[in-house]
Amino acid sequence: MRDITLLQGDITTMAVDAVVNAANSSLLGGGGVDGAIHRAGGPAILEACRALRATTLPDGLPAGDAVATTAGRMPARWVIHTVGPVWSPRDDRSAVLASAYRRSLEVAAELGAASVAFPAVSAGVYGWPHESAAEIALESVDASPYEGAVSFVLFSDAMLRVFEATLDRLR
Ligand code: ADP
Repeated sequence: MRDITLLQGDITTMAVDAVVNAANSSLLGGGGVDGAIHRAGGPAILEACRALRATTLPDGLPAGDAVATTAGRMPARWVIHTVGPVWSPRDDRSAVLASAYRRSLEVAAELGAASVAFPAVSAGVYGWPHESAAEIALESVDASPYEGAVSFVLFSDAMLRVFEATLDRLR
């Protein structure tokens, strides 16, 4: 396994080059980490998202893809917005979740970002079971050719423990 840093905290405070947002396809804001990022970064992020919707992404950002904007007033330089799949008990959407991580790191490489912090994409409102979300997250990052530093910033101690146990198992 590559080196992956696991932390408990608020991703909006991280002094990394790029913070990943678990956005929704509209890119026009939501709750959870998305709301926190827009609050912390200020209106410049929403302005940049609206500009994307008016130009390259008229139908929004599909699940599994990623796109970058400014990070506004946050310490990071960029926000990489990605859209995870909504959990479905019937339909296996694991490949879409893996793609969200893979595409985020491709965008990070294109930006020249040396460090990236992720939240647990799809593990909040989108309802993905936490152990599975952690496994897909860590395996996807490990499989990526991205050469920079990668951290996960987990909002709760419980989620940090899930990621730590999963990383121990995969090592
Ligand atoms: P999704 O819709 O993809 O499930 P959510 O934002 O609802 O996205 O949740 C994704 C994860 O982000 C959840 O584990 C949630 O607890 C966490 N989260 C919420 N706010 C923050 C924050 N400020 N920093 C880091 N993680 C956060």
